[in-house]
Amino acid sequence: MPSRLERYERVYRALARELANIGFISQGSVVVRYTTCGKPGCRCQKDPSGRHGPYYQWSRAVAGKTVSRRLTEPEAELYRGWIANRRHLEEIVARMEQISAEAGELLLGQTAPAKPPRSAKG
Ligand SMILES: [Zn+2]
Repeated sequence: MPSRLERYERVYRALARELANIGFISQGSVVVRYTTCGKPGCRCQKDPSGRHGPYYQWSRAVAGKTVSRRLTEPEAELYRGWIANRRHLEEIVARMEQISAEAGELLLGQTAPAKPPRSAKG
């Protein structure tokens, strides 16, 4: 029967392997936009389904500002995949952190001599 620490290590290694297989990642999001123009009598002004587009845009925050870039449809597909990869990566890292914290509690509980005295909180 594996110890708790061994179980943590096993799960951690599995997550690390998962991490190693992740492809390219990207921040931000892909937005699909339909627009209207100023041309008099254009179909885009009569009916929402007549608007121009779809236009694909990749938006992300750079130094606190939103930066956008036009993408073709295949590029948009590519970036949706990269953005999903990044989300997956973040989930894996969060789980690795959680397991590390649990392993840490286990190890610290074994090595800590005694709890420090409680501070007198008001
Ligand atoms: Zn138009």
